[in-house]
Amino acid sequence: MSAPFDIANPTQEHRMLRDMIRNFVSEEVEPQAHEHDRLEKFNSSLFRKLGELGLLGITVQEEFGGTGMDSTAVAIVNEELSYSDPGFCLAYLAHAQLMVNNLAYNGSTEQKARILPKVCSGEWIGCMGMSEAGQGTDVLGMATSAKPSENGSWVLNGRKMWITNGAIDDEGTPADVCMVYARTGEDENGRPQITTFIVENGMDGYSVGQKIMDKLGMRASSTAELVFEDVIIPAKNVVGSPGESMIHMMRNLEIERIALAAMAVGISRRCLSIMNSYASEREAFGKKIREFGQVQRHIGESWAEYRAMRAYVYDTAINTDLGTSGNRLDSDGVKLYSTTAAKNIADRAIQVLGGYGYVGEYVVERLWRDAKLLEIGGGTIESHQKNIARDLGRGGSPIDE
Ligand SMILES: Cc1cc2nc3c(=O)[nH]c(=O)nc-3n(C[C@H](O)[C@H](O)[C@H](O)COP(=O)(O)OP(=O)(O)OC[C@H]3O[C@@H](n4cnc5c(N)ncnc54)[C@H](O)[C@@H]3O)c2cc1C
Repeated sequence: MSAPFDIANPTQEHRMLRDMIRNFVSEEVEPQAHEHDRLEKFNSSLFRKLGELGLLGITVQEEFGGTGMDSTAVAIVNEELSYSDPGFCLAYLAHAQLMVNNLAYNGSTEQKARILPKVCSGEWIGCMGMSEAGQGTDVLGMATSAKPSENGSWVLNGRKMWITNGAIDDEGTPADVCMVYARTGEDENGRPQITTFIVENGMDGYSVGQKIMDKLGMRASSTAELVFEDVIIPAKNVVGSPGESMIHMMRNLEIERIALAAMAVGISRRCLSIMNSYASEREAFGKKIREFGQVQRHIGESWAEYRAMRAYVYDTAINTDLGTSGNRLDSDGVKLYSTTAAKNIADRAIQVLGGYGYVGEYVVERLWRDAKLLEIGGGTIESHQKNIARDLGRGGSPIDE
């Protein structure tokens, strides 16, 4: 009899990928997670090891130094890293999905041949700059702009806020490479046109404005403001045709949201595992606490929500083709559901552990802090609600399919 179909490991290759990362996580990620959260430090040497494992270019075509895998593989990596260290995983996601995958699917052959081998190996650390201090959700309101010069190059000016991997050390070294979205004109209806530029460390005028400290969670990732002051961008570093980047942005947001939802699966699985073991060990009033109905409710609801998000995440991943956009409804839906559920599961885990849940040694307080970011980054939960209601309001609603 063949083994039952497992939506989270649809092929043998996916199962092997998951086993390999699980091994790496228990040997190398878990031992450093607590310390890097406490010190608010990005572990760049461990990060570069992800390159040796082929994870930094997980979706990149093999000819450019990548592993050539699919959306399900992206979900597996993000789930497994987040089981242990969501902060470290966020740095991974910003590099491998926001920057590397973006270039792999939107860049020219010349750009891919020049840049992808460096970011796939971990020689270069990358980031993506969309948000600004004055706008996040309202992305078309961005103030960063670029103007063309007569010789074909562009002059980029502006500041990007909240950029994961924006600064790669404590000395304020900016990311080796940043995919920056900037306003480059207006269409005939007066709507801003957005273009993507590849900015490289060493270009005059590209620097770190400030490193953002004292974050609630995701403290093992570095967050920074980036400054672009009259940065001259050669024509070879313009991605696609000027003005067409809304398409790049939308296409890449789908895999970003699936990856963030997969992080929620990892957080939930760990919290559930910790609260379940603890409920069998801890006794009160002469009984294991798992015999109390209120504790059973915490465990039971968490299990059901974890199973539902796992199925939804991997179903969405299987149905998401990296090269095309068109799965917005479910990439919004899965992030909306999973992120709040993960935060609630982490909250219940703290509750089941009582005072122990409130301190770092027992892990769940860190996961609770990290889970909160998932409701904000890559689109707030309100923006997902808005998008879903809009998409379902159009003709041909998929509700009755
Ligand atoms: C740790 C961290 C890492 C990040 N990493 C990156 C990164 O690598 N690259 C990057 O570009 N950005 C990054 N971001 C930015 C993140 O994507 C934005 O914070 C997010 O998109 C929200 O934007 P905002 O903070 O400007 O909030 P706002 O957009 O100002 O929203 C404020 C509130 O208003 C609500 N709101 C806004 N518009 C509407 C509406 N139309 N309807 C209903 N409610 C609405 C929001 O949902 C929210 O509750 C990161 C943020 C953090 C905190």
